[in-house]
Amino acid sequence: MFGECHAHIIMDGKNYKEAVSLHRDGIKEEVIRAHFRKWKELGITFVRDGGDALGVSRRAKKLAPEYGIDYRTPVFAIHKKGHYGGIVGYSFSDWKEYVELVRRAKKEEADFIKIMISGIMKFDAFGVLTEEGISREELCWMLHIAHEEGMCVMAHGNGDKTVRAAIEAEVDTLEHGNYLERDTLELLAKSKTIWIPTLAPTGNLLGCGRFPDEQVRQILNRQMNSIRFAFEKGARIGLGSDSGAYRVPHGQGLLDEYEWMKKAVGQENEMALRERLAESEDWIKTEMRQ
Ligand SMILES: [Zn+2]
Repeated sequence: MFGECHAHIIMDGKNYKEAVSLHRDGIKEEVIRAHFRKWKELGITFVRDGGDALGVSRRAKKLAPEYGIDYRTPVFAIHKKGHYGGIVGYSFSDWKEYVELVRRAKKEEADFIKIMISGIMKFDAFGVLTEEGISREELCWMLHIAHEEGMCVMAHGNGDKTVRAAIEAEVDTLEHGNYLERDTLELLAKSKTIWIPTLAPTGNLLGCGRFPDEQVRQILNRQMNSIRFAFEKGARIGLGSDSGAYRVPHGQGLLDEYEWMKKAVGQENEMALRERLAESEDWIKTEMRQ
């Protein structure tokens, strides 16, 4: 069974505010354990989290061995003050603060550094992000400092310009990466960056009524076409469902992600897809640890 390369154990796939608030007055181990059981039931033995601001993923790391799960976490994600990322981590306003956060994550036994470099999609408006990404210069610094500290970097990024800059700055894994153009996908294919395109949080919205299906379908189709193109160019692609996100349950989310991914690259390429995903997962397992 594949590993889950992008999860949020602090969330529950239903209502993130309620899920997060469960841990506000102290971490509820029972909630974490219930999520681990879901993965275990499906034979998922590798999980990489995206971090949170309440120490939930840090606690989860301590519990994971009881379930036979190799669980990795950045402890918290780091974002520039005033930008997207508050729900999963802490912000910095200058480079001194950024370095302090990177060192704090290391001290708290983070396996890698997670950075936020753009907003998320507006599911009711194809092509639109909640905010533009940070500047090329800023994200170069974020990557450079984390790498200098000996840490790999997982970056949440959408939008062509921002993601292109992140690939050029040698980000280790790129999460989401919606709205990429062909040249950026070609660049990605030539780079060492592993792309985790997270189709499930978009695909699983179809038919739920929260957003107009035709907008959701356009976002999904665009991302699936990008995946197919990058796959054919030989890009390193990994499987992560963003489980915990709305309508993406832990465990089942990964199975959904695989189905969407198979649709993207074409059933006839399944064997090659499996191989590609396994190679990416192996790299993450081997390299993304302190
Ligand atoms: Zn995520």
